[in-house]
Amino acid sequence: MRDIRNIVVLTGAGISAESGLRTFRAEDGLWEDHPVEQVATPEGFRRDPDLVQRFYDERRAGVMAAEPNAAHRALGRLDAEFSGDLLIVTQNIDDLHERGGASRVLHMHGEALSVWCTSCDARHQWHATLRDGPPCPACGEPAMRPDIVWFGEMPYRMEEIFRAISQADLFVSIGTSGAVYPAAGFVQSARDHGARALELNLEASLGSRFFHETRLGKASELVPAWVGEVLG
Ligand code: NAD
Repeated sequence: MRDIRNIVVLTGAGISAESGLRTFRAEDGLWEDHPVEQVATPEGFRRDPDLVQRFYDERRAGVMAAEPNAAHRALGRLDAEFSGDLLIVTQNIDDLHERGGASRVLHMHGEALSVWCTSCDARHQWHATLRDGPPCPACGEPAMRPDIVWFGEMPYRMEEIFRAISQADLFVSIGTSGAVYPAAGFVQSARDHGARALELNLEASLGSRFFHETRLGKASELVPAWVGEVLG
């Protein structure tokens, strides 16, 4: 661990599970009891915007009510104390990494507490609801949608992510099922560039075979232990 100078961490819904935020159920395609095509695709939004706005209003409220757990706080400690390069790429839309003390965080799938105006393209921090069609603070149009990357849309800041992965000497995946691309492919890119790959997850994931090492258990236990090893 002493030779590690450049780390990319990928996190998924599993790191927030112990904070009470339910994971996405890859086996049955349900997110909070809704089929993902209903609540996480542009087509679903066009078909029933009211249902989708209500769904993310609930997710936003749930995120605000949740607290970071020991795994988020351990990554916050890593961010504060690790002197090398670090990028925490999260698929999560919650802000628990930031509230756990991390600042080198990139939200590739958007953020529950951000909204995007489809009329003027402005983004706003948002804690209230969208189901009532509030006007955009920038242009006044009632055209705001959740600032979430839905299936079929391009994840954010991919160039930056691949640049960091190409320079990493350690790639660590935490609490992700390996079912959602392109994030599921990051481990292979990291290995192609010579990084070691470590997986921390509750159960073996779809991509476990691509990692040099997989540790199974709860994020709240595995992540603090791993951060302790890195920081010595
Ligand atoms: P996923 O739900 O497909 O997989 C979660 C993984 O975490 C599973 O492999 C599971 O075994 C593991 N896990 C569950 N509890 C754990 C624990 N306590 N410790 C360690 N691992 C645990 O998640 P994904 O791969 O991130 O894909 C889901 C997609 O849905 C993401 O793109 C994300 O945008 C969205 N989502 C986000 C949130 C959130 O922001 N908190 C929650 C649900 C879904």
